Amino acid sequence: MSPIDAPKKELPAIFAAHGLRCTRQRVAVYQALVTSGEHPTADQIYQALQTRDAAISLATVYNTLEALCSAGLAQKLPGTGGKGPCRFDIARGNHLHLRDAQTGDIADVPDDLGEQILAAIPRHLLSELEAKLNFRVDRLEIQLIGEKQG
Ligand SMILES: [Zn+2]
Repeated sequence: MSPIDAPKKELPAIFAAHGLRCTRQRVAVYQALVTSGEHPTADQIYQALQTRDAAISLATVYNTLEALCSAGLAQKLPGTGGKGPCRFDIARGNHLHLRDAQTGDIADVPDDLGEQILAAIPRHLLSELEAKLNFRVDRLEIQLIGEKQG
């Protein structure tokens, strides 16, 4: 079972497996990230938690997101063109993202299409790049930037 599908009672074990102590704030932020279904900013997570848990501060949300990212339970997506707020995503496999150039909104590319795009990248070019730059490629992160039509 992936961490995303885990019921709340399994979160302490999942956090522990990632070397993270399971605190009330971490569970709240993690669950807000899972249930958002989008790629929220720290501020959006903070806003979502205000209705449920007024005790959590924006600084705590930021710190908690950083801890979740460091532990490999979440990932940070930089703002558009290096500007604008970062977005956060639950760590679930290697999936590609669509980014709206106007709004900065991010959506997931369906897994089947994402896998085909990644598979179409010539491996010999990656090998050549690794040899030329003395760099090992562990994974590819691809964002497709544009805008929604219609
Ligand atoms: Zn995503």
